[in-house]
Amino acid sequence: MRPSFRPQLINDPFGDPGVFVAFDQQNRALMFDLGENQSLSPRDILKTTHVFVTHTHMDHFCGLDRLLRLMLGREKTLHLYGPEGFIEKVAAKLGGYTWNLVNHYNHPFKIVATEVTCRQQTSRHFLCHEGFKPSGRLVRKTSPLVCLREPDFKVTAAVLDHRIPCLGFRLQERFHVNIITSRLAKLETEPGPWLQTFKKALYRNLPPETCMADLGPVPQTVAGFSLGRLSSEIATITAGQVITYIADAIFNKSNSKLMLELASGADQLFIEAAFLEADRQVAARKHHLTAAQAGWIAGKAGVRKMIIFHHSPRYLDRAQELQGEARRAYLQALGHRPGSTSG
Ligand SMILES: [Zn+2]
Ligand SMILES: [Zn+2]
Repeated sequence: MRPSFRPQLINDPFGDPGVFVAFDQQNRALMFDLGENQSLSPRDILKTTHVFVTHTHMDHFCGLDRLLRLMLGREKTLHLYGPEGFIEKVAAKLGGYTWNLVNHYNHPFKIVATEVTCRQQTSRHFLCHEGFKPSGRLVRKTSPLVCLREPDFKVTAAVLDHRIPCLGFRLQERFHVNIITSRLAKLETEPGPWLQTFKKALYRNLPPETCMADLGPVPQTVAGFSLGRLSSEIATITAGQVITYIADAIFNKSNSKLMLELASGADQLFIEAAFLEADRQVAARKHHLTAAQAGWIAGKAGVRKMIIFHHSPRYLDRAQELQGEARRAYLQALGHRPGSTSG
């Protein structure tokens, strides 16, 4: 299976937390957290349409300036999501600069900041042309924890306890369209950008009798096919990809329940592992997870791949210990899941 989303840590596990999610075959990306991001190329930054910020501790939010600087003067909308109080923080950051010359820019750059709580979502607009003064106010009370819903995927949040509200996120593809290349070859058809058009039509639930030629430019060899017939010829539909991102949360009963839901069956779980279990008390005091706790969550949630990060600098030369501890807890919890046969 060729995954639709290619997530990668932005920094090494001791650097600022963050994951960059590139879309396969599309000039688009999402980001989780907004810390230091110099490792990303300007090209990658400019692909980013939506950024999901867990909370505004400096290591999770200081990278907004670089995005802002690269995107200024471009015709682009950047969507930012964060926890309670987020709009005020975005306004304060934008308010830290002088914007007297931006009304001459040709292209209207815009930021839409959305504050996510269990009760509601509130969005405000910050337009470059207006010197980034907040405008508009949209409140949505239905499904407040669904941050973003598109035909092929959605991003949902949970409000975790990090002594302050801190969001965890789950990116879930609705279903996955696998293209069987040998069948394409049988139809003497080359893969290409038209396959995106084909997939989009499936995600948009277009009627199966829709003619492929009506969807846009497609190879002559498939132009006469209906969407439904082509789908049964060249594609299989499987479960969608799931990516979970958890940074900064204390290990307690309510957080564990929420983290298990966020990570349930995920293909990739990115989870903080700030401390070793031997320093469990420090982790609790600072409202962070230990490597063993991260591993336990990953195993109990039945995730396929666990990636730990956001290690405390006190373990700079002990990364292997954190990895080993998380791995052992993961395998043990995985083995104790109902229905598991791995002992
Ligand atoms: Zn924090
Ligand atoms: Zn942090």
